[in-house]
Amino acid sequence: MNIEQHYKEAGALLEGHFILSSGNHSNRYLQSAKVLEDPKRAAILADALAEEIRKSGIKVDTVCAPALGGVLAGYELARALGVRSIFVERKEGKMELRRGFEVSEGENILVCEDIITTGGSAMEATVVMESLGANVVAFAALANRGFCQRAGSDMERKSECKLKEGVPFFALGDFEFEMYEPANCPMCKAGSEAVKPGSRS
Ligand code: ZN
Repeated sequence: MNIEQHYKEAGALLEGHFILSSGNHSNRYLQSAKVLEDPKRAAILADALAEEIRKSGIKVDTVCAPALGGVLAGYELARALGVRSIFVERKEGKMELRRGFEVSEGENILVCEDIITTGGSAMEATVVMESLGANVVAFAALANRGFCQRAGSDMERKSECKLKEGVPFFALGDFEFEMYEPANCPMCKAGSEAVKPGSRS
């Protein structure tokens, strides 16, 4: 699985001069919603991710995604695994399980995002699942932004990673970008203006 090629083909790997959510600047940016724009591609990616999870032998009852970013990836992964798909969402800033979704005591949950950067939203979803008595047995994302350690990669866990230690994290590839503080950004020094791609572009 060449995940970078899929992102490129889908126009989801942007090149330019970007302001990341951390405030740092980078010459690359992942617009993960774009990689799921084509349902055929979404199915190919989810099937590959499901295969890795199956090989691990971890038993998953339900996939839970933090809305909005994780919903499509979570649904596709649940389809590929043949399990239930639910999502949590923010209400007045706090992540909650709503819309009649329920989880049982001891249910095995996989928390799925489209992309894991530091894993903050995935951990918010984890807190909700654990508060309801469920077990979070794995994390998954299409892509790993290089802060957390995914199963099968040599890339080390960085201090920014918020994912629960000891819980395996599955992703199709690592994307580690060069990042600069604005004051030291070579693109800024060359006179270019950084743009914020985010969810609004
Ligand atoms: Zn810059």
